[in-house]
Amino acid sequence: MEADCLFCRIVRGEIPATVVRDTETTVAFRDIQPKAPVHVLVIPKEHYADVATLAQADPTLIAEVMETAAVVAEHEGLLADGFRLIFNTGAYGGQEVAHVHAHVLGGAPLGPMLAR
Ligand code: AMP
Repeated sequence: MEADCLFCRIVRGEIPATVVRDTETTVAFRDIQPKAPVHVLVIPKEHYADVATLAQADPTLIAEVMETAAVVAEHEGLLADGFRLIFNTGAYGGQEVAHVHAHVLGGAPLGPMLAR
């Protein structure tokens, strides 16, 4: 846990969030500025800066993040029409919050993967 990490503070309940799934090791909550009809963030409760760090440090935990993302996608009704799972990573990846998070996006056609 990092004292002033935004998402660690959500895990500790210090900042409110609309939680849609809470497991022993992960939390899923709605993005505060949704970019699609469904926009949920999935995080490990333990602090890792980004997906590359987490994947190398704890492959079991990243699998649990992916499992939670899949269950959220199912519960949000995204499996039939499809959805997008994004880990923005580092400066070039546009990562704003340095606590690894998967964006689960769906509920409408999302357009091309990258703006040109
Ligand atoms: P990224 O740019 O990949 O780091 O994404 C960070 C995401 O966190 C953005 O989509 C923000 O809208 C979202 N966000 C920031 N603060 C909060 C918050 N307090 N609760 C929920 N989502 C947040």
